[in-house]
This record gives sequence, C-alpha cells and structure tokens, in this order.
Amino acid sequence: MTTPDPTLDPALRSWVSSANDAGTDFPIQNLPYGVFSGPDGEGRIGVAIGDQVLDVRRAIENTVLQDLPPETACSLCGTTLNGFMGQGTRSWRAARRSIFAMLSEGADPHPNLLLPQSEVAMRLPATIGDYTDFYASRDHASNVGRMFRPDAEPLLPNYLHLPVGYHGRASTVVVSGTDIRRPHGQLKPDDADPIYAPIRLFDYEMEFGAFVGPGNVQGNPIDMTSAMNHLFGVVILNDWSARDAQKWEYQPLGPFNAKNFATSISPWIVTMDALSPFRKAGPPRLPEDPSMLDYLSPVTDDVLDITCEVYLSSATMREQGLDPLHLSRGTLGELTWTFSQMLAHHTSTGCAMRPGDLLGSGTVSGPEKVNRGSLLELSWRGTEPIDLPDGTQRKFLQDGDEVTMAAFCEADGATRIGLGQCSAVILPAV
Ligand code: CA
Repeated sequence: MTTPDPTLDPALRSWVSSANDAGTDFPIQNLPYGVFSGPDGEGRIGVAIGDQVLDVRRAIENTVLQDLPPETACSLCGTTLNGFMGQGTRSWRAARRSIFAMLSEGADPHPNLLLPQSEVAMRLPATIGDYTDFYASRDHASNVGRMFRPDAEPLLPNYLHLPVGYHGRASTVVVSGTDIRRPHGQLKPDDADPIYAPIRLFDYEMEFGAFVGPGNVQGNPIDMTSAMNHLFGVVILNDWSARDAQKWEYQPLGPFNAKNFATSISPWIVTMDALSPFRKAGPPRLPEDPSMLDYLSPVTDDVLDITCEVYLSSATMREQGLDPLHLSRGTLGELTWTFSQMLAHHTSTGCAMRPGDLLGSGTVSGPEKVNRGSLLELSWRGTEPIDLPDGTQRKFLQDGDEVTMAAFCEADGATRIGLGQCSAVILPAV
C-alpha cells in the first residue's frame, strides 16, 4: 500500500489566503508551473497559488525552498521549464514537496515573493521543439465522418487500432491572451477556381495538451509502463482551424496550412502529480471494438478526468456588458486514447521526444450537442447557426469574437483544482 501524498491532503491550507477560497483554480494542492516576464524582461518560472504567482527564482535566492536537489534548484532558475521538465519524477516531486511546505499554513509567510497574477505577463512555459496533434475523441471523429462522408462508416478502419495524429507547427503555439489574426489561405469555392483570400470558416477546437518531460533516445520507444513518467503536465489547448482551407488542402496528406497559423495554450501547466486524484480506469471501449495491440497496453489508470467549458463573446456583447455565451462542455476522460497511449504510439518507431514537446488530444467532443468541441460540429457545418445574446448568429467565428476555455477537476475526497483559462480575440485579416 502506498503512503498518501501529503501534498494532496484536502485538509491543508496555505498562508496565501486566496488559495483557500472556495472555487479557486489554484489551491495549495495544485501548484501548477508557468513562465512570466520577470523584471529583467527575461522569462521567469512561477507557481500559481490562489490569485498570486510565486516567483520561484527569488524563493530559491532567498533560500526559503528547503531540500531541493541542486540540479532541481538550478533548472527552476531558468527562463523556461524545459530543463526542469527533462529531470523527471524525482526532481518534480522534490520541488512539489518543497514549494508545498513553503506555502503551507503555519510556515513563515513570504508575501514579498508573490506577485498578483493580474499584474504579470505570462509567456509560453517552454520552448516547444515539436508539436503533434491527435484525434482521440471518437465522438468528434464520428461527427466529422458523418458530415464529410455521409455514405460511409463514420470512423475510418484504423481509428480503433491506433491514435491518429499529424505533426503540427510548434513555431506558432502562443500563450493565452495573444490575439489571433484571421489568416489568408487558398480556398476553393464550390463553383469557382481557387482563390487566395482571408479565410471565411474560422473555427476553434477545444483540446487538452500534454507536455513531454524526459525524452527518449532515437530508436528506443517509450513503453506503456513508463509513459506516464515521461509526461510532465497538462494545459488547455485551442487548435485554431480554417475549415475552408482544410477542406481544399487536406487530401491526401492531412491538415497543413488550415492548422499552422496559430495554436493557443493556457499558461499554467498542471502537473501529473496534482492530477493524480483525478486519474481513472479506461479509456472506454465498446464490446465490439477490436482488441488493442500489446504496445498500446496496459492502460491502468492513465485516464485524466478533466472537464473543459467553452465560452464565446462577440465584441458587441463585451461592449454591452453581456456575459459570454456558454457553448460546450467536454471531458478528457471520455477520449478513446490516453496521452500515455499517444506517447507510446508516437515513439513506437523509435521517434525521439524531447522535454517540452507538446501533444494535443484532438477536439474533445461527447455524445450530446452540448459536448461538441468545435463550431463545425456545434453548427453542424453551418446548418444550425448559434444565436448570440447580441442578436447575431454564428456559424463560424467573426472578427472581434473572443473564445475562452476554462477547465477544472473534481473528485470525491480531493480538493477541486483548475487549469485556469485559455482565451483569445480574433483580429481582422490585414
Ligand atoms: Ca485538432
């Protein structure tokens, strides 16, 4: 029997009072990592606690973090999280225990090491060397199949045998709060020749992203028994998509420019240790589904039960002070493939992963209309427009629209934790 992790004890509180507020995303049981702009303009590693950010480097310089291995302390003084991600579970747990002890109620308070989250500018948490986006929601894949191939089986023959994915662009992953400009693309109107013009069918995709921790040597796959130890933590991810460009370009090699102009992620990486109370068995498979090959199993409790809500507000709604409209709710735990299976499959050829590589889950949709994780599905290719409180309708995104995603985890016997938000406003094409 394993000893309960004291950093997950729901009875414990912090001397940072906002961390004890009901409903906060960042109680002391969470302690997610991010990178903010420090006073010298360089990236600086922080930990979210309540509505504050702990300046980790200053905490180390002030010797208030106890029992940190030297290499752990060194990596936490870096300008990105890549070094820390690469060190693995022993280092991660030492840092978590140390930061937890420092922020606990009863410890000496150090308010001088905190900055209000509202006053810091967040940056990308890591230098992302490679980004791969998967397609792990059976409901999403089935919806898309029904829309685009109505006369065929919704799922393609490979779908239940392997986690389908494509290589995305790491260079255009941006942090929440970064405006997204409507891109140009090559489009093919149904009754005319191709044109190069601002995209018209601008969409979001609600997803989760997992950051890779320690990598692997090229030629050495990461197997299922160790895959979770190679995953550092999870963010909310919005895979912005140009549906008109996608429709014209995707055959035969899959997504290309329709997906490469921007991907937004939330700034705080919630670690696998913080997520451990929200792991469960799965993923769900139906009795008639084919059995999985050995290299994609065993999946014990690798499923992460995280819920994400999507909201939309138009520029007019914000001017009129109207609340954002709730669009959908999706759960990572309902996907057909887990992040550990995605990593095992990705590396099954011996493909090398590096610390800070990013894996996207694919659009998170579910069985009901409220579970559809993109406008393509919510408006069913534009045939079911969505009414906004400002009197307008949406089939796809308009300039000035703001898309906000907010995610959280809840379970019996555990403190609720959140992933914060991933938000961005659409700017007009230039
Ligand atoms: Ca996607």
